[in-house]
Amino acid sequence: MSIQIPDTADLAEANTHLKGASPQEILAWACTTYFPKLTMATAFGPEGCAILHMLSEINPKVHVFNLDTGYQFPETLQLRDRIAERYGIEVELARPAQSVAEYEAANGGPVYTAEPDRCCADRKIAPLRKMVVGFDAWISSIRADQSIHRAKADVVGWDKKFNLVKINPLLRWSHRDVWAFIMANDVPYNPLHDHGYPSIGCFPCTRAVLPGETDERAGRWAGQAKTECGLHSLDSSQL
Ligand code: SF4
Repeated sequence: MSIQIPDTADLAEANTHLKGASPQEILAWACTTYFPKLTMATAFGPEGCAILHMLSEINPKVHVFNLDTGYQFPETLQLRDRIAERYGIEVELARPAQSVAEYEAANGGPVYTAEPDRCCADRKIAPLRKMVVGFDAWISSIRADQSIHRAKADVVGWDKKFNLVKINPLLRWSHRDVWAFIMANDVPYNPLHDHGYPSIGCFPCTRAVLPGETDERAGRWAGQAKTECGLHSLDSSQL
């Protein structure tokens, strides 16, 4: 299948145009420009839940999916049901070809301990690639202040890794902005956030942050060099 790559100048212009726009304005632009070939990936983090609230008011028919690795916390999966109840948005689960039992049996045990990059590639990246076929653009929930990699992203750009336009409506928001929005709008969120988990991924690779740790992602792949699952790493950043 041939990929329709948008003109880089058009994307640069859109990016300039949307630089000072609010997340709702960015989402409205994305819906006008790309719906129905617009999708969103969410791990049900606070940013994703805030965006789902916004989409429920702008266009609740936008396709949304979650990468269901088989290693998510029960609280995360329950949040999917709470979102459906509150907003009527049914988040599709993108699953790997093999169940956790099949995957671990084929690999002589869990892969996340010794080869977390391979585990993320098999259980997140591969299902994402499959899920986005036929879409032109995807919405992500990253914020620039989360990491030096994410600080390099644009509001709108071409994602070379997945051959999609990538839209980051919360790029300029802070952690505090996100939580102020959640509280003001009574947005459902993962209860683990109230128990020392500011950032939540798969349970084998996520722990609560420790006293004195200021990085909100300090509990992700703690003790390893790995800081990203590969969805938002440098080689997928926009032109
Ligand atoms: Fe595997 Fe951990 Fe990546 Fe989840 S976060 S896919 S368990 S390595």
